[in-house]
Amino acid sequence: MKKTISSISIIIPVYNEEGNLSLLYESLVSTFATMDYNYEMIFVDDGSNDTSFSLLEQLAQQNTNVKVIRFTRNYGQTAALAAGIDHAQGDAVVFMDADLQNDPTDIPMMLAKLNEGYDVVSGWRKDRQDTWLTRILPSKIANWVISKVTKVHLHDYGCTLKVYRRQVLNGYHLYGEMHRFLPAFAAQVGAKIVEVPVKHHPRRYGQSKYGLGRTGKVILDLFTVKFLNHYAQHPIYLFGSVGIVLVLLSFLLLSYLLVGKFFYGLSMIRSPLLLMSSMFVILGVQSIFLGLISELLVRTYHESQDKPTYHVSQILNINTIK
Ligand code: UDP
Ligand code: MG
Repeated sequence: MKKTISSISIIIPVYNEEGNLSLLYESLVSTFATMDYNYEMIFVDDGSNDTSFSLLEQLAQQNTNVKVIRFTRNYGQTAALAAGIDHAQGDAVVFMDADLQNDPTDIPMMLAKLNEGYDVVSGWRKDRQDTWLTRILPSKIANWVISKVTKVHLHDYGCTLKVYRRQVLNGYHLYGEMHRFLPAFAAQVGAKIVEVPVKHHPRRYGQSKYGLGRTGKVILDLFTVKFLNHYAQHPIYLFGSVGIVLVLLSFLLLSYLLVGKFFYGLSMIRSPLLLMSSMFVILGVQSIFLGLISELLVRTYHESQDKPTYHVSQILNINTIK
């Protein structure tokens, strides 16, 4: 039986959201007033240059459940969420945007799912209120590709409103735009995931910080995620296989050319295949060596940070000798 949730950390990245903060705070306070949870709101000010931080300071003075982390400069939403995770003390972590596009009234339903035994509850902006061409369409394509590649089928990776059991988040270092891949990482170590439709509102105050450019970054991140999920412990399986295939192809081409030369009197150097064969053997051998170097890097990666090569969900009787 999984532990029921009793304390919640809500993590909110804030970048120039002065128009939204008090409304969001009020709305969170009234949502949690209806529930029997201990909670903290962790606002991470990601280098805002409007009055966001002084507003947060005031909230923190009024209410000690409001915790504020202020970055020295703008590091991005992923870094802000990572800082929130590092300081979160609840059994469950709720991520949400500061701009009121996510709705705090969805949180009770999501926490109930966690108490049903799920480890990750992922919000899906079924009726998304953003521009279609630059936001909704690219996001649909990205979600489709991510689902195919990670084999974790969610409609909306990009929705920030998601709830995690705390321990599912342990041990990740988030880079780039990677927070959206957390459900895929969690699935990789056996977490139970459920997707729920959530409300979505148009932005009322301030501007969106993103445009079309983010989709490109997300797709590039996907390569890294796929690589880390499948080959991070054994990169030589990837590089080595490519290398072996290339070297074999090169030998096949060369044999074909040699047979042509000695049995049919065909010129080897007039055929483009000779060049291809030499390219393939060089690339193939390089790829195998690249694989070996990556194997060295992997050992440094896991051993220098004491990163486990496995994740345990339960332990019974291990520390008891009678
Ligand atoms: N955000 C942030 N750092 C940034 C950009 C955005 O902390 O560099 C925050 C922003 O304040 C908001 C959330 O991330 O709370 C989502 O940003 P936004 O609403 O601009 O994205 P969209 O909803 O348009 O995808
Ligand atoms: Mg937004």
